[in-house]
Amino acid sequence: MTAVQLISLASQAIYVLLFLIVGAQALRRRLRATWDIALFFGATTLIVLELQFVAFTGATSALLTAIVGTLALALPYLLLRLVGDFAHVPPVLMRVAEVGLVLIAGALFLAPEPTPLPLVLILVAYFVVLAAYGAVAFVRGARLSVGVTRRRMEAVAAGTVFLGADVLTAGLEALLSPAEVPIVSAIGQLLGLLSAIAYFVGFAPPRILRRAWQEPELRAFLQRAASLPRLPQTTAIVRALQDGAAATIGARAAIGLYDPTLHVLRFQDPHSVLPNEVGAGDFLVWRVFQSQRAEYFPDAARAHPELSLAYRQRGVASLLIAPISAGDQHLGALEVYTDRPLVFSEDDLSLTQLFADQAAVILESRALIDEAARVRAQEEATRLKEDFLSAAAHDLKTPLTTLVAQAQFLERRAEAQPSAPADVSGIKRIVHEAKRLSVLVIELLDASRLEQGRLVGEREPVDLVELARDVASRDAYRSHHVIVSADAPVVGSYDLRRIGQVIDNLVENAVKYSPEASEVQLALAQRDGHALIDVTDQGIGIPVPDIPHIFDRFHRGANVDDRRFAGMGLGLFICKGIVEQHGGRIWVDSAVGTGSTFHVALPVGGRG
Ligand code: ADP
Repeated sequence: MTAVQLISLASQAIYVLLFLIVGAQALRRRLRATWDIALFFGATTLIVLELQFVAFTGATSALLTAIVGTLALALPYLLLRLVGDFAHVPPVLMRVAEVGLVLIAGALFLAPEPTPLPLVLILVAYFVVLAAYGAVAFVRGARLSVGVTRRRMEAVAAGTVFLGADVLTAGLEALLSPAEVPIVSAIGQLLGLLSAIAYFVGFAPPRILRRAWQEPELRAFLQRAASLPRLPQTTAIVRALQDGAAATIGARAAIGLYDPTLHVLRFQDPHSVLPNEVGAGDFLVWRVFQSQRAEYFPDAARAHPELSLAYRQRGVASLLIAPISAGDQHLGALEVYTDRPLVFSEDDLSLTQLFADQAAVILESRALIDEAARVRAQEEATRLKEDFLSAAAHDLKTPLTTLVAQAQFLERRAEAQPSAPADVSGIKRIVHEAKRLSVLVIELLDASRLEQGRLVGEREPVDLVELARDVASRDAYRSHHVIVSADAPVVGSYDLRRIGQVIDNLVENAVKYSPEASEVQLALAQRDGHALIDVTDQGIGIPVPDIPHIFDRFHRGANVDDRRFAGMGLGLFICKGIVEQHGGRIWVDSAVGTGSTFHVALPVGGRG
């Protein structure tokens, strides 16, 4: 046997083998598409058998030639039907191909032996044109597909090109000199073998090949999987899972998450062709979610005839659906779907289930991360509350103790010597401590109002310069030289009381934390749509490590102690809240031993 004969035999054997495989598939899944494949390879197998018969018996007849010719002609027509199963073929083209097939086949049967050259050329032209159309359609289909499906379509396109070229060489033989025929015929046999292999790979890829094609996409997905639970939003996780499943299986994918309150599966991707919500009774996905068993629906419309129109409109021809569940927690379902009937194979179902299981693990991890964050936030809130209570109790205790002791002393004195003159300095101390207590209580209330966003109220036009002058003239600041400087009024729309409170607090701190008789500067100006207030003192300053935290609740500088400087560390926290609720900003420049400048910038519009 020559090499050329061996090649020819191999390609014929592959075509027969393919027929057996796709024939069995067609019997198992009675779909138009599986029948079309079986018919295509049935025709090639018949041609092969006839050629073998002729080679074996040496019998040739006009009838046999006509039958082989007709079967060969039927191939591109059947191929066109297959293209139709994968993509759109204009009905006109289909009809033209059918009529052409009947006419040429009729001519073949009526023509004398040997077949006249013009008829051979028409036959070849018919074949080549349809095969070229098929190849282009498959290439275009491949471009629109992903993963395995893309490679399969590419293989089918290549097979079609090889088959067309094979027929072209057969046609050429009729035009060549006898010496050239063996070479061209050998090329033809090789093309036949290549087309057989390419079709085999495209239409019935062995499991090992599918797995090899899926492996890179699967590996890429698994590499990303560990980081998915930490994506900022569940929608992003779902999208990544969908993309991974789609790329690996070679189709489109959608994940529906179960919403227990509405009892529906919610599809989050707005680009999905599926409806956003699927509830009881609707769609196959709900059926699978209920049964908790993964299923392959090769023909969605047939599996659920009432919704066949919906499936067709949404471009869903076949479906793989797997439930996403973690233990007895039913989280949702993964749908992998395609608008072409021939894309999936039986073992893609286990791959879909694998993705659904991965999705369950990832979504569960996500839920655990969210839960942990919630618990942490709760712990933090509890800790803050405890801090707040202990700081408040501690700060209230000092003036309260003095107040009670002083009052008791006055009481005892009044009982022992009812006629003795009133102890004015003792009463003054009581008033002083009571006032301090009241300030502390007000600060606590303000801090809690601030948290609830209820601190800043009605706004009105306010001249900050006038307000600053008011603050500076308070008796409490007589111990220092408080100097207000401004070139012109600075007017904005603010909550008068609260902005007054900010300026007062800053001046109060400047006075509290700087030596008696030193200078406190209050400078006001308007620049770039902002009112600027600077309060500068020549006091103790703020240590560098404290500066970033100085506006935090209860934070006090390391260089202040309770005995020398009473306070709770709430004043600046409240100031910051008031300024920010006005759309402004507050910050500080300070150096220990030199002094501090607190800056406030408020939009003159007031609202920021
Ligand atoms: P309090 O004065 O009641 O402690 P504040 O929130 O007003 O609370 O201030 C927080 C801390 O910021 C103070 O404890 C002090 O350490 C520091 N601080 C505030 N103003 C000044 C200032 N003008 N000079 C030095 N340190 C200051």
